[in-house]
Amino acid sequence: MTHTRNTPASNTKSRPRRRAVRQKTTLPASGFVGRARRARENPMAVRPLRDGRYVVETDGGTYVVDTEADTCTCPDSAIRDAECKHLRRVRIEIADGLIPAPDERASVCAVCGGRTYVPRFESGPVLCDRHDHAPGDLVRDRETKSLLVVLRATGDRADRSRTESDRPVAEYETNADYGSHEPVFEAVYVDSVPLVEDVAELRAKKRYLFPASRLVPVESGFAREQVRRTLAGSLPGGESRTTQATLG
Ligand SMILES: [Zn+2]
Ligand SMILES: [Zn+2]
Repeated sequence: MTHTRNTPASNTKSRPRRRAVRQKTTLPASGFVGRARRARENPMAVRPLRDGRYVVETDGGTYVVDTEADTCTCPDSAIRDAECKHLRRVRIEIADGLIPAPDERASVCAVCGGRTYVPRFESGPVLCDRHDHAPGDLVRDRETKSLLVVLRATGDRADRSRTESDRPVAEYETNADYGSHEPVFEAVYVDSVPLVEDVAELRAKKRYLFPASRLVPVESGFAREQVRRTLAGSLPGGESRTTQATLG
């Protein structure tokens, strides 16, 4: 684990700079008083560390905040045992989505490139809220215009997910317009809206794999409960049934 505060400043000269220095910023402070106000109107730059703590740069000094232990290395926090403005500022920025929470890390959506936060130890491709699909969502296939229900994310990229004919999803001609790095979703075609199929019928349906952005959201949570029960039923020993997928 690297501790930034122990890194000699001269090291930064020999390495290519990874990102621009974060500018100190202020937040709207009207209606706030005391420390709550100073937490917003004092210029600060907050940077998450790899261990879930945060470095807070201010005009008066640089401190390390630990929101889980409720601590800050500033004198105010050490002497008065109060929630200092740095700790408050970090909490505000987490709540506003400006920085990741301690158990999250910043990542980039595989479809739009937008910033998003994911659980710290989650691996695999990432999607922002706008481009993600949840089990049970009703979606439309951009290519065939058909309606489908999403079963699950495979957790793999389109160039690494393989269909039952052992071909990567990204290699299908119908997927040429979608990124080979996109996460893949497993879905089934629905014959009617509202859904008349029961869980047994949903379970028997052939499953298909799609790159994320080939599926356009229609209605979120459309068949969440049916899909939950469908997947629960196919888990024990049902491994062979989970990916009988091909693409048109
Ligand atoms: Zn502090
Ligand atoms: Zn996105």
